[in-house]
Amino acid sequence: MEKLLKKYFGYDSFRPLQKEAINSVLAGQDSFVLMPTGGGKSLCYQLPAIKLSGLTLVISPLIALMKDQVDALKANGISAEFINSSLASDQINRVVQGVKRGEVKLLYVAPERFSLGYFQDFLRSIEVSLIAVDEAHCISEWGHDFRPDYRMLSVLKKSFPKTPLIALTATATGKVKADILNHLNIRNAEKFIASFNRENLYLSVVEKKKAFPKLVNLLQGYKNESVIIYCFSRKETEEIADNLNLNGFKALAYHAGLEKIKRKQVQEAFVKDQVDIIVATIAFGMGIDKPDVRLVVHYTFPKTLENYYQEIGRAGRDGLKSECVMFYTYADMRKHEYFANQIDDQRLREQTMVKLGEVLSYGELSTCRKKYLLKYFGEEMVGDKCSACDICLEEKEEFDATEISQKIMSAILRTGSRFGKNYIIDILLGKNTQKIRINQHNELSVFGLAKGQGEDELNHIIKQLLDRDYLHKSEGKYPTLSLTKLGGDLINNKEKISLYKTAVKTKPDANGEQALDYNPDLFEVLRDLRKIMANEAQVPPFVIFGDKSLQEMAYYLPADKESFAQISGVGAKKLEKYADTFLELINGFRRERDLEPIPISRGFDTNLKIKTGVKQKFYRKTKELVDKQIPLKRIAKSQEFKLSTVINHLEKLIDAGEKLDLEYLKFPRDRYQVICVAFSECGDEKLKPVFEFLEEKYSYDEIKLARVLMRA
Ligand code: ADP
Ligand code: MG
Ligand code: ZN
Repeated sequence: MEKLLKKYFGYDSFRPLQKEAINSVLAGQDSFVLMPTGGGKSLCYQLPAIKLSGLTLVISPLIALMKDQVDALKANGISAEFINSSLASDQINRVVQGVKRGEVKLLYVAPERFSLGYFQDFLRSIEVSLIAVDEAHCISEWGHDFRPDYRMLSVLKKSFPKTPLIALTATATGKVKADILNHLNIRNAEKFIASFNRENLYLSVVEKKKAFPKLVNLLQGYKNESVIIYCFSRKETEEIADNLNLNGFKALAYHAGLEKIKRKQVQEAFVKDQVDIIVATIAFGMGIDKPDVRLVVHYTFPKTLENYYQEIGRAGRDGLKSECVMFYTYADMRKHEYFANQIDDQRLREQTMVKLGEVLSYGELSTCRKKYLLKYFGEEMVGDKCSACDICLEEKEEFDATEISQKIMSAILRTGSRFGKNYIIDILLGKNTQKIRINQHNELSVFGLAKGQGEDELNHIIKQLLDRDYLHKSEGKYPTLSLTKLGGDLINNKEKISLYKTAVKTKPDANGEQALDYNPDLFEVLRDLRKIMANEAQVPPFVIFGDKSLQEMAYYLPADKESFAQISGVGAKKLEKYADTFLELINGFRRERDLEPIPISRGFDTNLKIKTGVKQKFYRKTKELVDKQIPLKRIAKSQEFKLSTVINHLEKLIDAGEKLDLEYLKFPRDRYQVICVAFSECGDEKLKPVFEFLEEKYSYDEIKLARVLMRA
């Protein structure tokens, strides 16, 4: 199976649960696959399709996507076709004939095909080995994207009782899952449910103040990359897109008010990398499957966490590090509330408010955001910290918050636990507001008790007291604060409490999959080449190669077909089709810069435990090369380092307890022994005494390397 994976898709290993799902399908079982966006669901039916003797029928709701999907399969040398309303009848006829001759492995169709009697007859006249229902949540009214046509799919299991059926989705609550299993008649399906933790996504929330400059600043870090910005209104999308264009970015607005043809053009420009940034209302995203979106911004926070998870899911489908930033301000709540209040149905209106409240809580968290999100979707994260959210990556400093917490709690108690956060803060700051005067709270002893504190500081402290369950916030439109049992204990027993100061945010160096330290110049040229070839072939650029493949090329600098074949995403077909063109470019670049190719080794130890931050990847690379027994000088050259730097790496690796086999380093034996003697005379702490002891006849590099060998 791994061989097929490499041959047809160019990948070396399966993602979680792919192999299990594939085995289940091949064993003839009905299967249900729940994986997050980008989890790699397609492979669960595409790989079996290659092995099975008959046709694999794929039902997918999005006509716009079918062509890309089929093109991608063809580019990998897999024979696939689609039938939908965009084809003329003679084209459909040609596909049908191809299927009848058994020349097609995968056939993509939209569900409405099943309302045509002749189509079902046609299916019965051929050998169908597998049926895949993609985006299976569309069958359920409880899902976010109900499509009545999907209900027709209940005939599938009746028409093809012996053919295994696989249903796939990224969104299924309990109800939706039950609907899928029921309507498709696959109640006994094997179920494969993957974790919803998308490790390559870095989540953060920023305060929406001076928002546009902040946005521009953020986008500076994503030049030439694909970005989606979600906004509140059509008007806002257009304003922001205009302003971004004025600031030198390439942005287009996208919203439901655009004509259909215009919307299609915008999508296409994005998919073909002709425009970098899409500024959209939530309508954007369903129709596209772009794997290399590197940044998703919510300029206005979304209405529900379900929406949020879905929208950020469009980032980093290719598994590479990507970022999701939510701009947060309480003021945006009013925009949402305004629309929520237009809802007539009282139950629905209340439910909408509750959902909004959940998003607010997410924005105000002082604990791990991923943990909160996962928990919301019913998954328990191991531990309390991830390494990919702003909260977990904050550098936090604690302080003794006993006194200030007591003041806050007193203010809540003295006003009868009937007021909200802002009012309590006003009292503590001694603000002379009308409301306070009317309530005569300016006469309380707590009035002005925290004068001199910043408003933000108090907000931050109350937030933490809420998160740690010392305070409780009521539900509803005007939430009030009160003390929990824990809070009561704190104040009665005069217990001490320490909280975090307002934190400084640090950005992560890398998260999720370790990013390669590829050559950015070469990456750019490779992207240009990819674009040219994509234009020629009239397919989206990612059909030629994904970003991951290009990054690997720009890192390993493969010199020949053999090493090119080892790049992720290079299968047999792409090797044959593209290797020469890409190798020519890479070789030219390498010669021009006088660089060396780096041998590709798969499966080396990625758990190197060295706490050295930015440099870590360099150490890792050095280790990788040493394991391959590459001479130190060449290691230095290929990474554009000095020899002494590489020796430093070795030293750090040895200090960190790494096992390195350095036997291969040819060090003249007599010289080595002399240096050893010098070390035993001078101690091995410092190099200078040894250097002098040896009358400067040995270089520092040599001395240092000898010490590394001594310690290894
Ligand atoms: P989903 O349908 O679950 O959102 P896709 O099937 O579209 O995900 O796959 C997302 C991306 O991951 C695609 O670019 C795909 O080529 C890639 N991918 C899938 N399986 C693997 C794998 N085993 N190794 C590397 N990349 C993979
Ligand atoms: Mg999919
Ligand atoms: Zn976290």
